[in-house]
Amino acid sequence: MSKREEIISGLYSKNYTLKGMDKKRISSFFGENTFNDKLMKERFSSNIYKRIKKCIMGEEKLDIALADQIAHAMKEWAIEKGATHYCHWFQPLTGTTAEKHDAFIEKIDGKIIEGLTGKQLVRQEPDASSFPSGGLRATFEARGYTAWDPTSPAFILSGDSGSTLCIPSIFISHYGHSLDKKTPLLRSCKFLEEKVKNLLKLFNMNVNKVSSNIGVEQEFFLIDRELAMLRPDLLICGRTLFGARPPKGQELDDQYFGSIKERIMKFFNEVEYELYKLGVPVKTRHNEVAPHQYEFAPIFEEANIAADHNQLMMEVLKRTAIRHGLFLSLHEKPFDRINGSGKHINWSISADNTNLLEPGDNPSENIVFLIILTAIIKGIMEYSPLLRASIACASNDHRLGGNEAPPAIISIYLGENLTYTLNMMERGNIQKNSVDNKINLGFSAISSIPRDNTDRNRTSPFAFTGNKFEFRAVGSSQSIAIPVTMINTIVADTIDSFRIRIDKKMSEGFKLFEAVTSVVKEEIPLIRPILFEGDNYSQEWSIEAQKRKLPNLPDTPSALEAAKSPELLKILIKNRIFSSEELKSRYLVELEKYCKTIHIESQLCLEIARTKLLPAALKQQKSIAENIKLLKEIDEPESVSTKEIRRVLETISECINQMIPAIDNLEIKANEANEKEDLAKSAWLYCHEVLPLMNNLRELSDLLETLIDDNIWPLPKYYELLFFD
Ligand code: ADP
Ligand code: MG
Repeated sequence: MSKREEIISGLYSKNYTLKGMDKKRISSFFGENTFNDKLMKERFSSNIYKRIKKCIMGEEKLDIALADQIAHAMKEWAIEKGATHYCHWFQPLTGTTAEKHDAFIEKIDGKIIEGLTGKQLVRQEPDASSFPSGGLRATFEARGYTAWDPTSPAFILSGDSGSTLCIPSIFISHYGHSLDKKTPLLRSCKFLEEKVKNLLKLFNMNVNKVSSNIGVEQEFFLIDRELAMLRPDLLICGRTLFGARPPKGQELDDQYFGSIKERIMKFFNEVEYELYKLGVPVKTRHNEVAPHQYEFAPIFEEANIAADHNQLMMEVLKRTAIRHGLFLSLHEKPFDRINGSGKHINWSISADNTNLLEPGDNPSENIVFLIILTAIIKGIMEYSPLLRASIACASNDHRLGGNEAPPAIISIYLGENLTYTLNMMERGNIQKNSVDNKINLGFSAISSIPRDNTDRNRTSPFAFTGNKFEFRAVGSSQSIAIPVTMINTIVADTIDSFRIRIDKKMSEGFKLFEAVTSVVKEEIPLIRPILFEGDNYSQEWSIEAQKRKLPNLPDTPSALEAAKSPELLKILIKNRIFSSEELKSRYLVELEKYCKTIHIESQLCLEIARTKLLPAALKQQKSIAENIKLLKEIDEPESVSTKEIRRVLETISECINQMIPAIDNLEIKANEANEKEDLAKSAWLYCHEVLPLMNNLRELSDLLETLIDDNIWPLPKYYELLFFD
């Protein structure tokens, strides 16, 4: 038996134990591994508690004495929970999380005692020279600081091998430049809060808190771990570089929302158990469209917390998969011709817990809704390349524009009711009910919008779904921090420009209602191009989008290039979301990441082709050739049967003959791309020359896979990876 067969035959006798919830009520242990509000109330005097809350709200600066008290309480709690170490948990530009652990020990008078000082809680100085910084922090100037972000609760990550207190942190350079994904997100949340508050003041609404709320739908694949171990491409690149289409893929649609298999259910239970303890409110779980593709979605939370929680979810999924003999793929396109995975960002704005994107029954609120809605559409239209670039990476390129995910053209879907509303407004069909002095829009469309729109357009990259927008082009492996930063910033800036216009109109004698509706009316014809209700996957749409002059940025190099325009970047710089140095560095980091990803893929492609696939093909070729020779010996002159066999041999030989130069060409081009000094040129070569050569090699191999003896094919096949119980 080959290794492949051995594993497959053993698969069905596996039994994984469940470290699960013991049927406890979720609420009884939810958040028990977080240093949360309830805990702080218990552990601090009410005076201290109030001060901590003020610090969290950004109303008071944290002084060192207070930090000492918090650190002490946090340490004691963590030790009670079995933690021996603590770390600043941060989100460098790699897109994942980083942690450097320190034990809770201090040496005082030659004796070891447990300790965590306020200073240690608030700031750490990891040797950060190996994180990507795009030149912001040269290796010889290795200093970068992590600083505690008190707005996100500290938590304990525990496993069989011990527990660690994780302190959510930002990561900045010695000169104060952000080196992470979280700092700009925090800046954008603050910016949005300020601008929305200003807008609401126009409406005599003085609110305490404005936040952007995010619910993230996370898709992923699960594969049997032992089989995945035989696929170096899955292990190293997260995606299969080779693999013929299976006889059955997802065409029967029998997986979507289907019942969840027992083995996967055990995995889900444990993931949920771990996430609940960490205070992540996972709510929904279901099978996705492709075989062994799944989705988890938590209840929405404030953007900063949601971003941390999505990182935690990815981490917990990864760890738990290992315990269950599963391999987690967060890659956007692990399998060719099978649906890829995304991450939908559901986004809304709330003011003192009222959702401002809720059309609502109270028409006087609708005017706020309409101006914000218009600002969102206008902002996204004007700055769409920034949004596109924020989700650009080598892996997401494989998914966007495939017939399963939104295209690389950013458009907005509003649905029938809102489209009708805007049409009516444009025609001037607005009435004001002057009797009770309430604003009445004169038609019932807005207040009758059903919350759960059933005619949802799932092909749209940015869709209004009743009381929130859903940004669907985000990749499953990506951090949500930067796309959310972009949405917050674009919307806040546009809201502010509208507020100024409304203000001006009012100073010219307009009443509030007229001022607002006239801004909306002026904008409607201008925002039309980005509104699209049809099928975003269709060929007609890309032609139509071109007519409308909407950018179509199909790959990472073109998206990053487009987003470099100073006209676009000024919105980020003037509002202090990013400095121009930070932007330059991020552009370089992303380009470099893109080049490195494809370079690694190309090298692995070469290695697999040379050391696994070609040898298998040669073995088959030899065996058929020997066969023909033997047949000829017993059957002179040459019979019809050997002629037929020769045809198989010819196809295999033809593939081999094409494969060898294809390998050589790929090697030459990959080296050429790798040696280019200019990163943009290098990225262009990887995109337009190296990737097509990899695909060419793949096509030859995928044909061979369907011709060669199953016993000698060296890689687990798609149907083996995708269909297991
Ligand atoms: P689906 O889009 O799959 O039908 P839902 O719309 O119910 O699912 O929710 C998807 C995600 O959107 C969930 O994480 C949910 O908490 C989140 N969500 C719901 N309302 C809001 C909101 N007002 N703001 C942000 N996210 C929201
Ligand atoms: Mg959704």
